[in-house]
Amino acid sequence: MRTKVAIIGAGPAGLLLGQLLHAYGIDNVILERQTPDYVLGRIRAGLLEEGTVALLDQVGAGARAHRDGLVHHGVELAFGGARHRIDMTAATGKTVTIYGQTEVTLDLMNARTAAGLTTIYQAAGVTPHDFDTDHPRVSYVKDGVGHDIACDFIAGCDGFHGVSRASVKPSAIDTFERIYPFGWLGILSETPPVSNELIYNNHARGFALCSMRSMHRSRYYVQCSLDDHVDQWPDEKFWDELKRRLDREAVDNLVTGPSIEKSIAPLRSFVAEPMRFGRMFLAGDAAHIVPPTGAKGLNLAASDVHYLSQALREYYDEKSSAGIDGYSEKALARVWKAVRFSWWMTAMLHRFPDTEGFNARIQLAELDYLVSSKAASASLSENYVGLPY
Ligand SMILES: Cc1cc2nc3c(=O)[nH]c(=O)nc-3n(C[C@H](O)[C@H](O)[C@H](O)COP(=O)(O)OP(=O)(O)OC[C@H]3O[C@@H](n4cnc5c(N)ncnc54)[C@H](O)[C@@H]3O)c2cc1C
Repeated sequence: MRTKVAIIGAGPAGLLLGQLLHAYGIDNVILERQTPDYVLGRIRAGLLEEGTVALLDQVGAGARAHRDGLVHHGVELAFGGARHRIDMTAATGKTVTIYGQTEVTLDLMNARTAAGLTTIYQAAGVTPHDFDTDHPRVSYVKDGVGHDIACDFIAGCDGFHGVSRASVKPSAIDTFERIYPFGWLGILSETPPVSNELIYNNHARGFALCSMRSMHRSRYYVQCSLDDHVDQWPDEKFWDELKRRLDREAVDNLVTGPSIEKSIAPLRSFVAEPMRFGRMFLAGDAAHIVPPTGAKGLNLAASDVHYLSQALREYYDEKSSAGIDGYSEKALARVWKAVRFSWWMTAMLHRFPDTEGFNARIQLAELDYLVSSKAASASLSENYVGLPY
């Protein structure tokens, strides 16, 4: 088989890149290790920046996000027993859309099927080869039979544990990492959200987030120990702990119910540099991870593939390598700002082993400054709604 761009991974980065390239007339094949149902079953991100929604529109996959997504104009910060609203739209003129990653993935999969593009699911042993030459290829095994795809470029969109970054020789890559000493225990429940907007809670017992997927489905998180296991957290215990970390009004309004998903996610900041190795590019979680506090992971995957698709369009349409030569630097400039923002939100809102006394007072002073200073709340808002591409 031959294609122009072989994409490894059918998560949001790979699927969106595939559609953008298709829109520019660049043929591509996606290789995915899992089944479509497995990919669709992963409950992850849920907040889209305007730029991400615009990219879905650009590839004709945005209709459901506009119809079913919830448009939010603000966010709430709760600390010291009180809640404070930040009006993001007043500060930036922009909004964010609540729409689950599972739905984004489904819309992109449907667009790909409608366009008749090739996705090979359950591809085992996917391996990129010769990306430091002009003749890269990707090998894989399907139903016990080995295959090879010759291509012009390889796009590594295969997430943090993927094979693309792992195929680069260690001397060619620099990595930067911060591992946080706690995780997020999250549950999804078929209950109405406690509030119309997200509530980020700084509390002496640990961080809590009240989020949602729709007006009937809520997503709540509590900061937990990295040693915890979901089995130690029956629903009742989760709801009790959440209530202890919320303000009075939120506790009164909280509707509890059985969880339909429960998981613990560790928190990590990670960046690999560069994001290009000869004829292979990395995009999305394959190149960087952010803690979910700033809701940036999925949105960064989208901005990466926007830059990459533009660069490849320039390569094929204008016979110019300037875009692909500049891809890594351009993408990393935006990535690092989102890494900084996610790290800052995490530091301000969570209990660290040394968050007591002085550090706890600093967190409260920072939160108080944020909600009382126009400049500070505008700074939070412009990062939260997403920096421009
Ligand atoms: C538990 C969890 C919760 C999260 N919550 C949030 C949140 O609330 N907000 C937020 O913004 N972000 C969140 N994120 C991050 C967000 O989900 C990711 O940033 C986003 O999925 C990145 O998309 P991606 O396509 O780059 O990677 P992925 O979604 O990881 O997709 C990579 C794809 O590549 C496939 N793959 C991997 N290895 C191979 C291989 N060897 N061969 C073939 N295919 C392969 C995988 O099966 C997968 O389908 C969360 C992540 C996790 C893990």
